[in-house]
Amino acid sequence: MGVIRLLDEHLANQIAAGEVVERPASVLKELIENAVDAGATTIDVTAEDGGLSSLRIVDNGSGIQPDDLRTAFQRHATSKIATGKDLFQIVTLGFRGEALPSIAAVAKVRCISASDTGGLGRLIEIEGGQIKREEDAGAPRGTDMTVKELFYNTPARLKYMRTVQTELGHLSDVVYRQALSRPDIAFTFAHNGTTLLRTQGNGDLRQVVAAIYGTAAAKAMIEVSAEHPDYAIEGLTALPVETRSNRNAVTVLVNGRYVRSPAVVQPLLQAYHTLLPINRYPLSVLSLRMHPSLVDVNVHPAKLEVRFSKETELRAFVEGAVRKALGGQAYIPSGSAVR
Ligand code: ADP
Ligand code: MG
Repeated sequence: MGVIRLLDEHLANQIAAGEVVERPASVLKELIENAVDAGATTIDVTAEDGGLSSLRIVDNGSGIQPDDLRTAFQRHATSKIATGKDLFQIVTLGFRGEALPSIAAVAKVRCISASDTGGLGRLIEIEGGQIKREEDAGAPRGTDMTVKELFYNTPARLKYMRTVQTELGHLSDVVYRQALSRPDIAFTFAHNGTTLLRTQGNGDLRQVVAAIYGTAAAKAMIEVSAEHPDYAIEGLTALPVETRSNRNAVTVLVNGRYVRSPAVVQPLLQAYHTLLPINRYPLSVLSLRMHPSLVDVNVHPAKLEVRFSKETELRAFVEGAVRKALGGQAYIPSGSAVR
């Protein structure tokens, strides 16, 4: 008799949750991504106590069909990819079908979703992976997801949580990046009853920057815009007067996804060259577009890193685009190995 056996689904979800759900901000990131993928034009986030007691995300996107609601909380259940080929052509923020089952395994989740405008929706409540309630419920089109008492059944993880203030900082960071990546979506973010962010959803990136970083910062930013056969870049980058001491000042978006990417940040800094004080970063939002086959998004558990297939070319393109924007030196043609 062998000793190896398959884990039951609940245990597998709890294990996956250990990777996917590090803290309240990871829950928020996944749920906002789902709202964005559902084509929402408004996303309202409310958090209590740094998201540790409660996180609620309401969107007006496509909703989940009543028959799909239970399935959406199953492991590897996704409407976003179907074949191995799709994995190399990812155009959505989510694709692994892991977020909902992982979150529901380590929290108390209530989801009401309606997929049509007829007002007929469905509700499901899951606690620690167990379905507690499922019934029809009137609801407007979209999804209303509440996650309470995160890590209530995983005391070790709960203990590791920092202060409300620290968790709130991480939540804000997630909302800010998502708002910067989608100026066409109207976001609101409230914490313990106080509204911390409201964006218009009118597509104006500079207005989103102003809402997050203040008007002075928004005014000090210049437009970046360039094209190349493989890439396009759009965004705003600050004149060297608006700098920060921290890399977080730079928001890099790749096909609409916020990522941490030295392959983009380094050439950005090189483009400023001696204009930047030492150890300072310009406030920047750079949005790169490329064919999905040129970027592997499936390399990091929280999808925060990506791998580019033509990195050297990309670096030269970014540096050239930012230099051009700063009005400094001549545009560096593609393929150049200039660092
Ligand atoms: P993934 O996003 O990788 O597909 P998730 O576990 O995050 O996996 O979600 C599972 C499925 O549930 C999604 O593929 C989608 O069909 C549906 N879903 C989740 N959240 C929403 C939402 N806010 N609006 C519409 N559908 C949603
Ligand atoms: Mg998802």
